[in-house]
Amino acid sequence: MSHGYFGKVLWIDLTNEKFEEENLPDKIYRQYFGGYGLGCKLIYENMRPKVDALSANSIFGFFPGLLTSTAAPFSGRYMVAGKSPLTGTWGDANSGGTFGPEIKKCGYDAILFKGAAEKPIYVTIIDGNKEILDAADLWGLDIIKAEEKLKIKHGKFIKTAGIGPAGEKLSRISGIANDKGRIAARSGIGAIMGSKNLKMLVLKGNHKVSMHNKDDFMSLVKIYNQEGKKKEPGKLIKSVLNKAPNFAKLMRRFRIKMSGSAGMIRHVYHNYGTSMGNTLSAEIGDSPIRNWSGIGMYDFPFSKSKNLSAINIQRYKVREYGCYSCPVQCGAILKVPELNFEETHIPEYETCCSFGALLLNNDLMSIFEINELCNRAAIDTISTGATVAFAIECFENGILTKEDTDGFELTWGNAKAIVELVKKIINREGIGDILADGCDIAAKQIGKGSENFAMTSLGCEIAMHNPRIFPSLAFTYAYDPTPGRHTAASIDMIEIGSIKKFQKGLKLPDGWKKNEMKWIKGQKITTCFYQALCCAGLCSFSTLFGPYPFLDIINSLTGWNITVDECLNIGLRIQTLRQAFTLREGINIANNKLPGRVIGDPPDERGPTKGISVNYQNYYEGFCTEMGWNPENGYPLKETLRDLDLEFVIKDLY
Ligand code: SF4
Repeated sequence: MSHGYFGKVLWIDLTNEKFEEENLPDKIYRQYFGGYGLGCKLIYENMRPKVDALSANSIFGFFPGLLTSTAAPFSGRYMVAGKSPLTGTWGDANSGGTFGPEIKKCGYDAILFKGAAEKPIYVTIIDGNKEILDAADLWGLDIIKAEEKLKIKHGKFIKTAGIGPAGEKLSRISGIANDKGRIAARSGIGAIMGSKNLKMLVLKGNHKVSMHNKDDFMSLVKIYNQEGKKKEPGKLIKSVLNKAPNFAKLMRRFRIKMSGSAGMIRHVYHNYGTSMGNTLSAEIGDSPIRNWSGIGMYDFPFSKSKNLSAINIQRYKVREYGCYSCPVQCGAILKVPELNFEETHIPEYETCCSFGALLLNNDLMSIFEINELCNRAAIDTISTGATVAFAIECFENGILTKEDTDGFELTWGNAKAIVELVKKIINREGIGDILADGCDIAAKQIGKGSENFAMTSLGCEIAMHNPRIFPSLAFTYAYDPTPGRHTAASIDMIEIGSIKKFQKGLKLPDGWKKNEMKWIKGQKITTCFYQALCCAGLCSFSTLFGPYPFLDIINSLTGWNITVDECLNIGLRIQTLRQAFTLREGINIANNKLPGRVIGDPPDERGPTKGISVNYQNYYEGFCTEMGWNPENGYPLKETLRDLDLEFVIKDLY
């Protein structure tokens, strides 16, 4: 008997209105865990190469992690996956909340969609009954209104995930949202859902996965959670931490980077979420400023950014929340009387930066309003903010004029104009129609040199962290099969926490920061471990909070005896298949280049990143060799594919 998973996935054929269960062998779970790893295996094998991502032949799905729906800390995540309509590469995106566990509660390890409905529909799987229902009265509604309407019809215990107006209008920067606006945002998977006329997936179930050794599993969870409570910082440290956003200038002067003890980070995340970075990151040079052309301490100094500080945002907090099974609970609900918002999600750092520092906008109300607009529309805030930055730069350079913007001055920091442009992008109105598919597609239509203002990697808008502060980000922005992400296993980002402390027996080469070969080996370990972590369903933040019995938890759940080496091999398999998918689509990752501004080419002449240019291209050949890929073009070698039980890829790449 298998433990930790059900051994079956559900295929839903929207063209023929059919539900079909597929039983999977145990081996697949031990090879891929779940999540996008399982997704990549199923989609790679069932979807023809070079299919239009927005056609009926495109396949996408919802994939909870291996540990999702259990009490394992941080394990409540699910992933959506398919071919990215934005980049044409492999695409996946991740969200928390309570939807992921419900997939497992319905008795499935994944739910996949193929075909397309002729008219708007939604799918329900409620207490074992599966139906495809008319969504005429849901189409056009935002995520929150649609979820509320479905709860009136199907009961308050259902869980939903679906698209808002952005996905309906096939915006290639749209995502899929659950829990009233938490979004699996990147890769543009919302547009795939829209192209299938699928508004929502509605779930309710009461299945539980069986456990190999429930006592061991629960004891590991209990000990971890108790230890976490013990690490709470004392009153004095807490009071200092609570004022930390005001120390932004000090942090710049002493060039202190983002680090700290597990207990401190836990306290900060619980109380402030990622918004803690709003002022600090701008000062230390991490936040991109003025579409990556500015310097925080001069162009968006603390005197401006303090309006967006975590302390200011906290004034609006009415309650905290978090994902299923999470002991940290980093989310929060705000009440904003100035905007008549009774309830709105706290904006994440990425959102605050995309619409703040990146646009020189320090109007907090506009950030709250945009966050609510984007959540309801289910659109990626990073890509939308970066596209607004692109449009502002076009306007400032006379490429776009007031005629294009319906009369408003699209200038840096003009909060009113920025809000209006976001509405236009969501609704595909006027210039918004051109911008709704992200910078690169817009630049192709606009021309006139506008491509110089598109800060993208292979078509994906680059996230809000500067490789001159976290150098390995340049590498993963350029070369991960899902480009442009800050959540793609950059060794510097992961080491804010320390994976060595997180999982016993996992080790990076000593001195990896100073030696090229050691860095490459370290990046390989990080890449492989991170794939396994995600596919187990754990949140990326989980590595920040100290030692975690990751493999012990997996082994007590499943009855396996996975070692660190086997875990890294699982990650290598997943990353190699994501790479193969992207190469099979004809995307030349090995020759990808980042915009000069993003890597300091030319370098800044002053400020915290003065004189820094990031060298990332020189590392790729060595990295490919370490991964068992061809260093010239990134193609996985035949023997690597055989070793990883990926022989089915050979016919496609050779
Ligand atoms: S740390 Fe935050 S994002 Fe991560 S699982 Fe917990 S609540 Fe969710």
